Amino acid sequence: MELKFYNTISGEKENFLPENKNNVKIYSCGPTVYNFNHIGNFRYYVFCDVLRRSLKLLGYTPDHSMNITDIEDKIIRDSLAENKSVEEFTQKWTQIFFEDLETLGIEKIEHYPKATESIPDMIDIIDKLEKRNMIYEKDGSVYYSISKFSGYGKLSKIDTTGMVSGTRYDTDEYEKEDLRDFVLWKAPKLEKEKFWETKYGNGRPGWHLECSAMIRKIYKSGIDIHTGGVDLLFPHHENEIAQSEGAYPEDKFVKTWLHCEHLLVEGEKMSKSKGNYYTLRDLLEKGYDKKSIRYLLLSYHYRTKLNFSLSRLEESKKAISKIQNTVDRVMEARSHENIQQKEPENFAKSAFEEFKNGISDDLNIAKSLGTVFDFLKTVNSGLDSGSLSAADLEDVAIYFKKINSVLAILDFEKKPETLVDEEIENLMAERAKARQDKNFKRSDEIRDLLLSRGILIEDTKTGVKWKRN
Ligand code: AMP
Ligand code: ZN
Repeated sequence: MELKFYNTISGEKENFLPENKNNVKIYSCGPTVYNFNHIGNFRYYVFCDVLRRSLKLLGYTPDHSMNITDIEDKIIRDSLAENKSVEEFTQKWTQIFFEDLETLGIEKIEHYPKATESIPDMIDIIDKLEKRNMIYEKDGSVYYSISKFSGYGKLSKIDTTGMVSGTRYDTDEYEKEDLRDFVLWKAPKLEKEKFWETKYGNGRPGWHLECSAMIRKIYKSGIDIHTGGVDLLFPHHENEIAQSEGAYPEDKFVKTWLHCEHLLVEGEKMSKSKGNYYTLRDLLEKGYDKKSIRYLLLSYHYRTKLNFSLSRLEESKKAISKIQNTVDRVMEARSHENIQQKEPENFAKSAFEEFKNGISDDLNIAKSLGTVFDFLKTVNSGLDSGSLSAADLEDVAIYFKKINSVLAILDFEKKPETLVDEEIENLMAERAKARQDKNFKRSDEIRDLLLSRGILIEDTKTGVKWKRN
């Protein structure tokens, strides 16, 4: 089975052929740290995680980076408003971002470079572009002259005919219709704005430059995979290509471009500026659990738009329970909890191959999940009829552990047995007697035993009551 990705730049599904399978160089555009990320952003970060975990399951070793944009217009605006230094302000939001990643079961990756720690690398790129006569200065800022780069538009397929050279943009984000020279180095505009002293004058980097610089800094030359949300295709990624290939024309910059589609709310992109968003913490506070959120975000193919709704979160919860119930039954039927670190070889071998086939087809996780639900039926009927041998059970456990290395939603601990009502009533009576006799050691033991089986005891005006947790 060949791993295939839809490469945005070629517009085709291609076999994935990295330079070195044991060192797959991946760069993912990361967050601007000035506020909470919304779950639209997290759809993208979960996609990056599924990409990385799938590559590992398929036998590749990723060397993965995600940048932290810690200097930018909104950061300057909001840190000044709060009277904080850029460092203090961004530190807080960076930490919150990492906490949210952990909540969603997103793996730590190899590199998290920060823009503010890569200024010399950005200046290096400007130097190279200057030598090739591709930049100019205006009012203390430095601009990239896009007419000097013949490949401009090859990623976004923007039509460059009729392009007027010499008109400029200072802002980092703009629309396709606004095809203009973009800023590499920005002169300060506000009085207290943070700036660096460089040979191009006092200023700070444009957003596009940092990604080109970090890729060069970490990987020395080009990379195998570059990811981002579809909204980054233009101008951000187009400008990255112009900078990196303009500065280093001898190197191939990026082999495969992967773009994740948007999370929508009632047909519109979820975004901070529209105000139609939930943060991860909003949903957790409403009582939705983190696994359901992760599952919803990963279960739709990354190149399809995903319409978010709270009812879809409920459906995700049910889907997880369905898989988890079978995992629990399998774990219960085995005599131990250890699961070997290998691939399924017997009973679950073909189901595992089908799972891998799905993700190998341009990360078609929806297809993989379909095969999981089919396999659940086989396993459940084997458990019902008692026809699964000990070796079959081992293989199924290995299968679940393996698919969970991508899904990260399952739990493999044996659940403690629950008690029937009569047993609980008997223990409650014994506890009441123990308390009457002032045998608090025994009454505490009973309370702990009940708690360990998910039974809560409450002292109410009408006596002691119990309920299932
Ligand atoms: P930002 O911090 O705005 O640069 O966004 C971080 C990442 O989230 C980028 O890769 C965006 O493309 C992505 N993104 C933003 N909004 C959405 C959305 N509604 N759905 C999916 N991805 C998004
Ligand atoms: Zn970027």
